[in-house]
Amino acid sequence: MKIIAVRTHLLEHRLAVPFESASARFDRRAHVLVEIECDDGTVGWGECLGPARPNAAVVAAYSPWLIGQDPRQTERLWAVLYNALRDQGQRGLAITALSGIDIALWDIKGKHYGASVSMLLGGRWRDSVRAYATGSFKRDGVDRVTDNALEMAERRAQGFHACKIKIGFGIDEDLRVIRAVREAIGDEMRLMIDANHGYTVTEAIRLGKAAADYDIDWFEEPVVPEQLSAYREVRAGQPIPVAGGETWHTRYGMWRAIESRAVDILQPDLCGCGGFSEIAKIASLATLHGVRIVPHVWGTGVHLAAALQFMAAMTPDPVRVNPVEPIMEFDRTENPFRQAVLKTPIEAVSGVVAIPDAPGLGIEINRGALAQFKMPEA
Ligand code: CA
Repeated sequence: MKIIAVRTHLLEHRLAVPFESASARFDRRAHVLVEIECDDGTVGWGECLGPARPNAAVVAAYSPWLIGQDPRQTERLWAVLYNALRDQGQRGLAITALSGIDIALWDIKGKHYGASVSMLLGGRWRDSVRAYATGSFKRDGVDRVTDNALEMAERRAQGFHACKIKIGFGIDEDLRVIRAVREAIGDEMRLMIDANHGYTVTEAIRLGKAAADYDIDWFEEPVVPEQLSAYREVRAGQPIPVAGGETWHTRYGMWRAIESRAVDILQPDLCGCGGFSEIAKIASLATLHGVRIVPHVWGTGVHLAAALQFMAAMTPDPVRVNPVEPIMEFDRTENPFRQAVLKTPIEAVSGVVAIPDAPGLGIEINRGALAQFKMPEA
């Protein structure tokens, strides 16, 4: 079995209403899928987190090391590709591109052996996960306080047990939003806040102390991801558990965060941290310090499917009668190709997502959607 082609598919949708996090403005959704084809006709799919064109360029740069190779040798190919760009590529695009490739190779491996990726990772602990709704970006032309409260009341009505809102736009306004959302969703629903590394240490501590009154499960990316000591200060200086990790890459990057006790909850992104091969190692490292893992998810149905396979195989820590179960980040912002790329959409039903058990990622790609949402040439 040999790889004969490595392709990327650039997808784009212009948003009806642009929105902002604390650190970025979105006027479109753009994502890139990786397609790897083998000489026996088997095709595998992956996805890269981050800017679509640069990721596609790095995937293309890796392809000479893939053509002619046996795709089932996932560990070996990961090491060969990592080594190929290692001296200038220990994190960032070199790893997000590698992630999409690794996911596609695992999809091929699963299809070849007739097993889901979760079975290949060691077996399934669960056939479904509860989803939490991510949304509440700052949208153009609307009042953020009422907009966020209305949106999350709707998520509650849809059956989500938890939701995450965007902050980092100023402490006083953020606190008004948090209070309004808590009132809108009631006392039972779980609530998380995500600053997208928009705060300084002192601001994050002030915000966290005040927001703790509203029963917050975690405070995500309070400060910029390079500053691990700042994470520790935020963790020590306010009562809300601290989460982060969507921009930390490979076992090396994650280990620094885990070892230095920067976070209570680690959020590796499968399409960014190095794919299945690497996230399995990261999960092992997290158990050394009792750090909880809640994967970051942001992209198309391919990303959703990959995250589900990993979550099916996540071993509870500790194993106990009623273990702490993983929860699935479920982006609810505008993205028509998120589900359109799949022949069978992956949706939350009453806040619960079923995990496919067909071979590989357990999905089939709708090529019509790849054409429909194809990014215009630069
Ligand atoms: Ca986030």
